Amino acid sequence: MKTTRTALALFLVLFFLIAREDPHIAFSQTSSESTGLDGFTSEGALAQRRFEQQFRAIPAANSAREHLRRLTSEPHVAGTKEDYATAIYVRDQIRGYGIPAELKEYDVLLPYPKVPSVVEVIAPRRERLALKEAVLSEDPSSSNPRIIPLFNGYSPSGDVTAPIVYVNYGLPPDYEALKKLGVSVKGKIVLARYGSSFRGVKAKVAEENGAVGLIIYSDPADDGYMQGDVYPKGPWRPASSAQRGSVQYLFQYPGDPLTPGKPSIPGVPRLKIEEATDLTRIPVQPISYGDARQLLAPLRGPLRPRGFQGGLPFAYHVGGTDDVRVHLKTEMDYQIRKIWNVIARIEGNEEKDRWVIMGNHRDAWTFGAVDPNSGTTAMLEAARGFGQLVKNGWKPRRTIVLCSWDGEEYGLIGSTEWAEEYASELREKAVAYLNMDAAVSGANFGASSVPSLWKLVRGATRDVRDPKTGKSIYQQWQDRAREARPDPELTDAESGTDTAIAEARIGSLGSGSDYTPFLQHLGIASLDMGFGGDYGVYHSAFDSFHWMSRFGDPTFEYHVAAAQLWGTIAMRLADAEGLPFDYTDYGMQVREFFSESVKTAKRRKLSAAFDETAMSDALEELIKEAARVEKSRQATVLEIERTRVEANDRHPRARERLSRINDALLAAERALIDDRGLRGRPWYRHQVYAPGFYTGYAAQPLPDFRQALEDRNSINAKDALDRIVEAIKRATNALRQALE
Ligand SMILES: [Zn+2]
Repeated sequence: MKTTRTALALFLVLFFLIAREDPHIAFSQTSSESTGLDGFTSEGALAQRRFEQQFRAIPAANSAREHLRRLTSEPHVAGTKEDYATAIYVRDQIRGYGIPAELKEYDVLLPYPKVPSVVEVIAPRRERLALKEAVLSEDPSSSNPRIIPLFNGYSPSGDVTAPIVYVNYGLPPDYEALKKLGVSVKGKIVLARYGSSFRGVKAKVAEENGAVGLIIYSDPADDGYMQGDVYPKGPWRPASSAQRGSVQYLFQYPGDPLTPGKPSIPGVPRLKIEEATDLTRIPVQPISYGDARQLLAPLRGPLRPRGFQGGLPFAYHVGGTDDVRVHLKTEMDYQIRKIWNVIARIEGNEEKDRWVIMGNHRDAWTFGAVDPNSGTTAMLEAARGFGQLVKNGWKPRRTIVLCSWDGEEYGLIGSTEWAEEYASELREKAVAYLNMDAAVSGANFGASSVPSLWKLVRGATRDVRDPKTGKSIYQQWQDRAREARPDPELTDAESGTDTAIAEARIGSLGSGSDYTPFLQHLGIASLDMGFGGDYGVYHSAFDSFHWMSRFGDPTFEYHVAAAQLWGTIAMRLADAEGLPFDYTDYGMQVREFFSESVKTAKRRKLSAAFDETAMSDALEELIKEAARVEKSRQATVLEIERTRVEANDRHPRARERLSRINDALLAAERALIDDRGLRGRPWYRHQVYAPGFYTGYAAQPLPDFRQALEDRNSINAKDALDRIVEAIKRATNALRQALE
């Protein structure tokens, strides 16, 4: 008796531990429980497990290393012949695995620096900054003469001389702090540090505040010696290294600046450069902290406000006086250039007009070992696995499309042009878009996705081994999140750690990689994921094969894990009879976003402006409908399973119902698109997810509503919420169609 009670108690404790670890476990008492594969009959799951195991046995460290070595042998900026060579390499490798693959090219506006930029101190004494990354004897590729000079993509040409003002991260509150000190940036060159926002946002805010030029540097506090040893001794940024990168106004629209919303193909009219609304008008230049020191050290003017001090060894002043004057000159060569996507397809056997899309970009600012070719390597290894499976007799139910994007670094160009060209087909056929960009810079798994994919992602991470610990990736991800969590009482938003790893939570998609056109323009369920680590060489000449072999992934086992996980998720989406999408999670997540916003509204005394109940009711309906569809989906899969066993009947009625349910699950995400677009940026149409105007990378969920609250504009807040409520109702209706 006593033993039984102890056992029972133990069982309960264990159950609650597990249930607490995964709040969704209680909902999954379904057919998937026995097989562990959501959306599959037991028979289907057995076959699936077999194929998945065969698949996961294929990706290998040796061939991953070889792909990365080949892909990073030369710098391959979008549109260059070295970039073209990587496209051919990727296409031919995939063809070699027995999968048809083609190049798809676009003609797009891409600037290169015509000559290296000039940053010259005029006062207190004349001195030209080096603007050059060091050659390191330890890293053979650092001496490559084809490394592109330090520049920011889509900076205009410009030639300005003015005093310097240090503006910290260059966020709107930083400029407010300067105003309080009586420092104006009008007519000045502003010096901002990288971090806390997308660099295009820094350019926009500098321009709005009347600056005539922008210099952005990497402060050692953010990714240099304050974090740890610098390269080549450690993985962090050394004094000569700077971060290249685009200053396109990505939050306005991505893609070719001259063809917003349309593909850059022959016959499509182009804007004039002056007409593009996603380009900055002031010259922008990145520099290293070695160089920034020459500008910051002599600055006078007020002592830095709170939060402005960085990691250089002196007290920062904000400047604004005539003591330090700088000459900034950028000379760009703007041309229409060709870029090359590679598109490969494995035709679906039963539903070939349903596409599961995997994507990763291939172009890099320099060698791109981490960003993006760790992802390209993972894609090639996954393709190798798929190719082998096909030879073993695997026929995916749905079509798998593999996409190697070009021009991502300039502004998600290859993916955006492709998504714009095939918009109507994608709206019709796409099941999901699965992105990897910088797939490996360490061992720490993280993911962001729409909530309907959360269970799928968690499930797949349970079936892939974490190379270092031998635990599942899921377990390792949980354990790390728990250790890292400072205070369990704080929500993500409050503790400011809204990252993919907090309590193994899956983050929200903002922008900064190729999922943006799929999710935010077309309403296709999307996922982005990878393994992160101590990575201080982002967009520098040191994001090289040597860096990766020394620090990022010396054994290349995380490249293997990335390929295994990515492929496993794609296979489940391609093969499941009932699509494993869960809109209950979606509804609950949006409810959480909404209650956060309501708190903000109350603080700002704006809650009278909109109808809270309408939204709460709409969400409740969505969650109810989602639960009904989920139940029916599970039941229908069981029904197909039972009738198959009993009468060997293919049970057309159940199949027909399941296919209606699958269609509804795709339609629900599409329904969150409002064709009118977001306020002031019609290209972005998703009512739940968009990058913020003043964050650029980070998501600003319920974007127009949040922005209206930020702006304290009650009319816009009401209008934005009305549209969100409409979108939620459309999604609920789409789900309802499944059961009619
Ligand atoms: Zn990238």
